[in-house]
Amino acid sequence: MNMTILAWLFGVLGFIMGSFAGAQVWRLRARQLYEDKEAHESYSKDEFKQLKPLLGKKGKRDRSCCLRCHHTLAWYDLIPIVSWLSTGGKCRYCRKSIGWFEPVIELIMAALFVASYVWWPFSLTGVGWVLAAGWTLFALWLVSLVLLVVLATYDLKWQLLPNRLTWAYAALALIVVVLRFVLVHDIDIWSLAGAVAIMSGLYFVLCVLSHGTWIGEGDVKLGLGLGLMLASWEKAFLALFLANFIGCIIVLPGLISKKLKPGSEIPFGPLFILGMLISYFAAHHIITWLFAVTTF
Ligand SMILES: [Zn+2]
Repeated sequence: MNMTILAWLFGVLGFIMGSFAGAQVWRLRARQLYEDKEAHESYSKDEFKQLKPLLGKKGKRDRSCCLRCHHTLAWYDLIPIVSWLSTGGKCRYCRKSIGWFEPVIELIMAALFVASYVWWPFSLTGVGWVLAAGWTLFALWLVSLVLLVVLATYDLKWQLLPNRLTWAYAALALIVVVLRFVLVHDIDIWSLAGAVAIMSGLYFVLCVLSHGTWIGEGDVKLGLGLGLMLASWEKAFLALFLANFIGCIIVLPGLISKKLKPGSEIPFGPLFILGMLISYFAAHHIITWLFAVTTF
């Protein structure tokens, strides 16, 4: 099939998965609040009341609903982007604003799917095993992107990286590493170990030393998955540098204008994920460019 047509198809798939991811963020949050309530931990009662309908009743499939009026959504309310545009970002039933959250996630996911297809570093052509391996790795990568987008969004909204997601991502990354080791033969064990040490080990030490105040446990677990996925110490080093560099650019204006205090909590998960994605696809170009700049 023509590459342009495939890129479009992956864009559409990205929109659909973005819509799915957006819905999962709210469901996860509802479940988290329910578990906090059951464990007698502190939780926001108003927020739980708002999200409770998403949990559904036992044995029944939970339907998507408006978070404001709790009206069950029809199929035509769930078409990515189109539904949002058709109502001008408002709920069709109560006319209250839905916000930018859903369409932004859908757009980001579609862009990530297309970019992944266009810049995919492994072969998607060939015959037999080579072809099967290329497409299997690509499919697993797309699933991993859904997990990363949900993680980044959750962390941005609630400064938390849920355990079940960080572990799921690490497990998926491990499967990818094993497949690459067996089928593509491009894994260097020492470089892989270095990547995990840089992305997770370093933060593990910081987390233990600071009792979780500088760096959270969630970042250590997320770093484990990201390090495995990069599987190269150079890429891991670059990813960590980019995450902190981009973080500084975002935080500095806030610190200078004193809107942010030095102790303000900034979710590191989204930066970590962004650094990893840039490094995954562009590490070679960035490193070549850096060498070219520094040698002149
Ligand atoms: Zn509504």
